[in-house]
Amino acid sequence: MSIIPSKWYRPNPLAHGLMVFEAQDNATRTRAREGRIYKTREDQLCRACHEREEMVGHILAGCVFHQFRGIKTRHDRALYVLVREILLGLGVPLPATYRYPCGQAGARTLGTGSVTVVVDTVIQTRGRVMENRPDVVVYQHAAKCIEIFEVACAYEPCLLERDIEKRRKYLPLATDLARQFEGYRTRVTPVVMGDLGTVGRIRTHLTEAGVFWQDQVDRVVCGILRQVLCGSVDLLTKHLLL
Ligand SMILES: [Zn+2]
Repeated sequence: MSIIPSKWYRPNPLAHGLMVFEAQDNATRTRAREGRIYKTREDQLCRACHEREEMVGHILAGCVFHQFRGIKTRHDRALYVLVREILLGLGVPLPATYRYPCGQAGARTLGTGSVTVVVDTVIQTRGRVMENRPDVVVYQHAAKCIEIFEVACAYEPCLLERDIEKRRKYLPLATDLARQFEGYRTRVTPVVMGDLGTVGRIRTHLTEAGVFWQDQVDRVVCGILRQVLCGSVDLLTKHLLL
């Protein structure tokens, strides 16, 4: 049974595709484009925050107005898909109480005796670790490994930097967990996708994570990609209607 609202499973492929192509070509009718290309506007500031030039990159990744609205929704939908696939990959049944968005209406700690999946929760640490609330932590007790996942949608030109930054951000937590759970292997897996669909290193990272079966990785990538693109289209549509 689908518990993501049905419209996310049935996007209008043509309209969504055109909007994405337009945005990838930087041809979306933003105020900056109207000012620079069409010369029909002097004020090129963002219509939502009035702080920066209104360009596609700003709307999709930088605008403070959308930070806790569309940008967060897009992240949470991608996270939901990741958690669902992690549970599937490890053979843990998805509890009926676990609903989108992650953690808010459902359990934050999922799993069976040998596998525990913790979603969007502050992790207890031995030492002082500033970044202690990653998106997902998977404890596989039988295999003795702990995997930290962090999901992000990045401004396309900064994809690689965000990928490196996310891994670096949670390395102290991984080190602390390795001290707490002696003999366990710990790792950080960044799941960073471009806000207009660039997959970047996700496929490699997910393959190395040791959580998904081989054929599942592409399915996970496609699932996240769909949520990111739908989220970006939704964000752009709402923004242009402001
Ligand atoms: Zn703005």
